[in-house]
Amino acid sequence: MEIRRRGHAMNVLTFAHPEPPRERIPLRPVFLPFAGCPHRCLFCDQKSQTGTAPAPLEEIHAALERDLSLALERGDAPFEIGFYGGTFTALPGDWPERFLDLTARFRDAGLVRRTRCSTRPDALEPGRLARLAARGLETVELGVQSFDTGALAASGRGYDGETAQAGCRAVLEAGLNLGVQLLPGLPGDHPGLFRRDVETAARLCPRFARLYPCLVLEGTALAARWRAGEYTPWSPGRARAELSLALPRLWRAGVTVIRMGLAPEPGLAARVLAGPVHPALGQQARSLALLDLVRGQVARLGRAPRVLAVPQRFSGEFWGQGGCLERAYARLGLPRERIAFVGTERFRLE
Ligand code: SF4
Repeated sequence: MEIRRRGHAMNVLTFAHPEPPRERIPLRPVFLPFAGCPHRCLFCDQKSQTGTAPAPLEEIHAALERDLSLALERGDAPFEIGFYGGTFTALPGDWPERFLDLTARFRDAGLVRRTRCSTRPDALEPGRLARLAARGLETVELGVQSFDTGALAASGRGYDGETAQAGCRAVLEAGLNLGVQLLPGLPGDHPGLFRRDVETAARLCPRFARLYPCLVLEGTALAARWRAGEYTPWSPGRARAELSLALPRLWRAGVTVIRMGLAPEPGLAARVLAGPVHPALGQQARSLALLDLVRGQVARLGRAPRVLAVPQRFSGEFWGQGGCLERAYARLGLPRERIAFVGTERFRLE
């Protein structure tokens, strides 16, 4: 951020958006629903979250081999493969190695750029991460969900906050990229818990994070608790506000937030009984975070602003969904006529 004087009285502020640059390689997910999971977590319904039913690993492996061979024949552009939906590092026998050996073959052929997996923080047996890294695994997404021992216990996750942090450190110590998944609004939630989780995540310096506010999905144990009046999910407004506060903290730590809210898989909406589900949840949170950024800069300016130049790439999120933030900007002294979208990378406030 920079302030400079122009003429005698007019100071001008320029500032960058704090989001770290984002690497964009196409990611092809391979779903292994519930494979390797020690139990079924009370909020989890992989079928509606991934649009894929559980299947024998042999079948998934054979289908992946066919898909990759076809993609190679077609001359598809290189992509990253992500093994999701289960506990990859706890797959039985040598299945993790078999899947990685398959993707390595296609990496050597130039089709697969990188490989990642998701797993639980308590499924990182010493030595296994190093063996998987040696076979080409580059990134591990840890379904941490929370670092709070109380919330983890109330949600029956089966590990405590210290194990969650140790899991993150183990991934980094194995030389792998770390991604952290947080699930705010779990049973056992209380005010301030998510902010502490975000703080802990930021200090662990993962490369990226996914933030999935907890939903009540049909067929899960959480649905029974919700029906019995024993669980209340976050409201959409709380989810938006909490996520918008999480974003700048993570961005300041160099963490890219690659997803907020579950991906809208076909069939998911019909299975959501309660909770903050909205296809534009992430966009809404980003818009609020941007408003907060501008509010802070107007305060630094110390006088009524004359004009704000906004990099063009933020034009889609600046005003919020349906222009809902227009009045908030007007209250800052920035009605529509004082906003200009420009082809620069930095904001400029006069
Ligand atoms: S949340 Fe993760 S560990 Fe739990 S059942 Fe779902 S995929 Fe398995």
